[in-house]
Amino acid sequence: MSEKHTPLLPCPFCGGAAKIDDESGLDAFWGECIECGADADIAETAEEAATAWNMRAHDPSWSELLKAAKACLAPDGGFYCTTENERNLRAAIAKATGND
Ligand SMILES: [Zn+2]
Repeated sequence: MSEKHTPLLPCPFCGGAAKIDDESGLDAFWGECIECGADADIAETAEEAATAWNMRAHDPSWSELLKAAKACLAPDGGFYCTTENERNLRAAIAKATGND
């Protein structure tokens, strides 16, 4: 099913393209990243789902959280958490979840 809706912003996590998915037979729509599968809140219309997705994609605290988390990952795949990395990560998590 395709319904007209506001164009979707790229995924805030991986930069991939997003789409509106829906549950056939139910009034349930949600934005979803085609690349990594990240999804946003379920809405009753495709337009509301597009708005919810775009709001999430706009949230700068998620980008900061992702950046802080990536800083803790070593290039060889291990976990590399310096005291500064940990402090930045904790601060980013607090900001993204609203627990300052
Ligand atoms: Zn993604």
